[in-house]
Amino acid sequence: MRAWVLNETNGPESFTLEDVPTPKLEYGEVLIRLEVSALNHLDLWVSRGRPAPHHFPHIAGADGTGEIEAIGEGVTGIAIGDAVTINPSVSCGKCAACLAGDTPYCRSYGILGEHLNGTLAEYVVVPARNVVPRPAGMDVTAAGSYGLAYGTAMRMLRRTRLRSGDVLLVVGVGGGVSGAAQLIGQAMGADVYVTSRSPDKIADALEMGATGGFDSSEEFAGELKKSVGRGADVVIETVGPATWNQSIRSLDPGGRLAICGSASGPKVEISVPYLFFKQLEVIGSTMFDHAEFEQVTRLIEGGSVPVVVDSVYPFEELPHAIERLDSGLQRGKVAIQHG
Ligand SMILES: [Zn+2]
Repeated sequence: MRAWVLNETNGPESFTLEDVPTPKLEYGEVLIRLEVSALNHLDLWVSRGRPAPHHFPHIAGADGTGEIEAIGEGVTGIAIGDAVTINPSVSCGKCAACLAGDTPYCRSYGILGEHLNGTLAEYVVVPARNVVPRPAGMDVTAAGSYGLAYGTAMRMLRRTRLRSGDVLLVVGVGGGVSGAAQLIGQAMGADVYVTSRSPDKIADALEMGATGGFDSSEEFAGELKKSVGRGADVVIETVGPATWNQSIRSLDPGGRLAICGSASGPKVEISVPYLFFKQLEVIGSTMFDHAEFEQVTRLIEGGSVPVVVDSVYPFEELPHAIERLDSGLQRGKVAIQHG
């Protein structure tokens, strides 16, 4: 099969289009012929070796949708030709965490395209429990684009116990996870505010239904409190040190902040008295379990959460798609059309 592979990790120019063996099916797995995949910043990070792939050649790509081409032993309820969407959150399926449904706590947890060969290829193999049916009539580009970002945002909002009527602040809107957090938050009935350094990204967020937006490089905690009359119940963070202090100060007493990434650097400072006097919660979050993936899939299928797609590139033009993602100018998902 044809695949965009990494044989080294010297950055995005390391992706090369090659003929590689089609992956073999093992017990409980399905082989999918991909129709659409999509890029995430994870693909850029993997191409730079942070995190380093576990093997070479490595195939990146977490998101995708396609048709079942072949079925391994022990798989029931799925037929060849079924249209499916891939859940990129892969775990052993046997340990106590997996049996309890808490798959992100599995000790052999992996992300498609990081720990395992991913979707930037003609075919991919995943455990059968990692596909959900793609309903007839669903937009194929949307189906192939939401997995990693929307699933991650869903878990963050669940873990912060977001309720209808809560004030939700999404910091650094315009990224994959932050954009999804805005849209899912709105579908859950929250009053959503955003921050960005880009006036265009704030304008997009307002058009998509945010109540207000602030400049990330300004003192947005004060601006939010002036607009709302109080702080946020929930803050979604993906930026890290560049916005951390303002994000914490944006919280109302008892507020919860969830963070799943730290694009501006690895370390932040925290005022401990501020943390306990205000009774704040800081929640680290990564990926999502099967129930969260199904929940966000239902919201998307039902039309209450849109999947925003910035652009679609032919499979052969992956380097241009990567360039688009790396530019930071994209507004929504960068998708890849296969075959
Ligand atoms: Zn497990």
